[in-house]
Amino acid sequence: MTVKIRLYVDHPLGDGQTVPLNRDQAHYLFGVMRQQAGAHVALFNGRDGEWRAEVTKAGKRAGELTCLEQTRPMQMPPDLWLLFAPIKKARTDFIVEKAAEMGAARIMPVQTEFTNSERIRQDRLQAHAVEAAEQCGGTYVPEVTDLQKLDRVLTDWPLDRQLMFCDEAEAGQARDLAAAKPGKWAILIGPEGGFSPAERKRLHALPNAHVVSLGPRILRADTAAVAALTVWQQALGDWNA
Ligand code: SAH
Repeated sequence: MTVKIRLYVDHPLGDGQTVPLNRDQAHYLFGVMRQQAGAHVALFNGRDGEWRAEVTKAGKRAGELTCLEQTRPMQMPPDLWLLFAPIKKARTDFIVEKAAEMGAARIMPVQTEFTNSERIRQDRLQAHAVEAAEQCGGTYVPEVTDLQKLDRVLTDWPLDRQLMFCDEAEAGQARDLAAAKPGKWAILIGPEGGFSPAERKRLHALPNAHVVSLGPRILRADTAAVAALTVWQQALGDWNA
């Protein structure tokens, strides 16, 4: 029997483990997707891999699944953070969705000097990351953090983490990841207004920073995020693992 529906649940998964469904999940599974008792669904929780589960109780507002067998082992993404300055709502949603699909381990909205939006809806962005993981077959859901000031993030920057600083001022220059070593990494993408001179100066001086160009054209921030994730995954990530 082929399983088409994948659901993220915040519950332990294992042999014979029963998993209660909350109201939203029950509505989705039984109301929207028209599933009934006996149907098979794929479950993952970000820790225990993917499990085939059977619907053992189906109700309007609740339900229960029982795990049958593990169908995929847990696959962790590389230890890569994506730092980006939030832009317009739909484009910010896009960045979070693509970062989850591309295998970022952690998604960190940062407020830079030229960032327009001062607030984000962390819960909505987290829900986008969950949905992206459900549809792309991932077993891991990246954490979306609350908006933090870039200034602060750099002050606390971990000594053991490299930073791929995508600097639009380097557009067209030959600056890539060829000399970079694998390990703990982060990518930084600026806002529509780019980085301020002070931010650029500070980032160029950061010991762990690798200044990178994404080609001769200036990309929009959402395009730049996907391009940077692609370049990093190809050079240092799990595409060739
Ligand atoms: N307003 C700025 C462009 C900002 S583009 C200007 O006109 O110069 C938004 C972000 O995408 C940038 O801050 C940078 O992180 C990234 N980016 C876009 N194009 C890039 C390129 N060719 N090389 C490196 N980074 C780029």
